[in-house]
Amino acid sequence: MRCSTERGVAMTDTDLETVATWLRNAQSIVILTGAGLSTESGIPDFRGPQGAWTKNPAAEKTANLRYYVADPEVRKAAWRHRVNSEMWTAAPNDGHRAVTELARLTSVHTVVTQNIDGLHQAAGLDPDRIVEIHGTVHFAKCLACSWRGPMAETLDRVRAGEEDPVCLACGGILKSATISFGENLVPADLARAERAAARSDVFMALGTSLGVYPAAGLPEIALRNGARLVIFNAQKTPFDELADALDHGTLGTALPALVRQVGNIRPAG
Ligand code: NAD
Repeated sequence: MRCSTERGVAMTDTDLETVATWLRNAQSIVILTGAGLSTESGIPDFRGPQGAWTKNPAAEKTANLRYYVADPEVRKAAWRHRVNSEMWTAAPNDGHRAVTELARLTSVHTVVTQNIDGLHQAAGLDPDRIVEIHGTVHFAKCLACSWRGPMAETLDRVRAGEEDPVCLACGGILKSATISFGENLVPADLARAERAAARSDVFMALGTSLGVYPAAGLPEIALRNGARLVIFNAQKTPFDELADALDHGTLGTALPALVRQVGNIRPAG
């Protein structure tokens, strides 16, 4: 069966129950999460209606390795943004907590997150099940040598007046330990995510526009191997036509409702 909703509309309880049954019966579930899961924690996504790039297309440059390496002004802007980022004060929301709960109630094998904010870990999800496919903002790395260290220490240097801090080990360019556009993913992380997708029988994509490869290739791998595809995302994605179930509502409401169905828990009140 196929469950689908209009843009901005959540699934009916009957459709949620169908998805809950698939999840309860699944042997190996893979969940891919994107920036949309963290918007309700106050961290803007890139391409949603309130997205950082939707509102300021020039900001895309700071996430592109070519511009970052070539232009000190781009690096200074990136560090200024990093110091003042919402990510340092953001807390997990009901959507993150629902993913943690799903992992407790069902056979969630791996959560592949494109998010760099660390909010799955903050919501109590087992770190061994998480693949941070685009890295993390909680560390800084040198682009010239193998140095890697806590982001807080580099941000202290920026706050103390270094507009474009360099590596203290080799003088190289520093960057957050995230994967920028034009930068390769960590091969072991991608291989782990692809293996999990290939073995999954249900693949869920939550809060992602499914427009950034190779992460967007994961649902393709899952579908090729016979998995059901379930998408929760406020806007359309290129995979909507292939999905077995679609929810275009808000994750912070939709995911807790799904968890209640999975656990047969009645809403409070
Ligand atoms: P994206 O910006 O391309 O897409 C996010 C999608 O989430 C949009 O389609 C939007 O409609 C949807 N969305 C937003 N809020 C929602 C909500 N409350 N409920 C349901 N849907 C909602 O993000 P992406 O697909 O993750 O890919 C872009 C890149 O952005 C990734 O590489 C990621 O590393 C990076 N990013 C991460 C963060 C973060 O860590 N929180 C924030 C911004 C960007």
